[in-house]
Amino acid sequence: MDDPRFWDLFFELFENIPRQGPGSLEATGKALSLCQGLPDTPDILDIGCGRGAQTLDLAGMTKGGITAVDNHAPFVERLAEAVRNKGLGARIRPLVGDMTALDFPDKSFDLIWCEGAIYNIGFDAGISSWRRLLRPNGCMAVSEAVWLRTHAPEECRKFWEAYPGIRDIKANLDAIQAHGFDLLGHFTEAKECWTEEFYAPLKERMRLMEEKYPGDEAAGGVLKHLRHEIDMYDKYKDYYGYEFFVMKNTTNNP
Ligand code: SAH
Repeated sequence: MDDPRFWDLFFELFENIPRQGPGSLEATGKALSLCQGLPDTPDILDIGCGRGAQTLDLAGMTKGGITAVDNHAPFVERLAEAVRNKGLGARIRPLVGDMTALDFPDKSFDLIWCEGAIYNIGFDAGISSWRRLLRPNGCMAVSEAVWLRTHAPEECRKFWEAYPGIRDIKANLDAIQAHGFDLLGHFTEAKECWTEEFYAPLKERMRLMEEKYPGDEAAGGVLKHLRHEIDMYDKYKDYYGYEFFVMKNTTNNP
């Protein structure tokens, strides 16, 4: 990771897979179905959109307008390209931006979406700082890494030391309540959201990277790092997963 080329190669991989984290059309649809009281054409903000798999799915499942924000410009450009190809320019606005410094006016959106990205700011900081952007009665749908079981084996806990923000589902539900949201529902994403939707295309790109950079130390480092991540999920998938939390801004914004 200290090799300056590590992140270039890491992004080269991730720019070429459809999703940058676990998820699926079904999971996005299920979370959307838990939202309540959305207008016919909701204004939606998709935070940490990556290449926009869920952005495009949301465009298919709503009649809304979607502002999709990510701080990695090449991801946003890939989404912009898909938007142009699909003729969705009037519906989706891809933007380079930082989730820790979103400068939209208060009460700009009916729905805030964030799949597999809130870990970059932390669950509490994310839901509390984004709340001002929601209109009264607006909804927020966020997927976050959680412990599914207590007492994960040492090797698994060690792997997750990289994200100390991981908690159990109950702790996230408490946070939702503590920050003044009403819970509309939550569910654990199916294992296929990881294995089929995320890791299968990633493994294919990893194979291509191995071919493209034989013997390259930095590429070897990236591949080793990701192989470990995939192995951990393979071994410990009963212990952790992604939970989708859907909440509502019922009380008026402060
Ligand atoms: N929602 C997408 C991407 C998830 S990966 C999907 O599920 O496929 C996490 C994303 O968060 C990456 O695209 C990364 O570029 C983005 N990200 C990381 N830090 C960010 C920040 N400070 N502001 C905006 N996006 C950020």
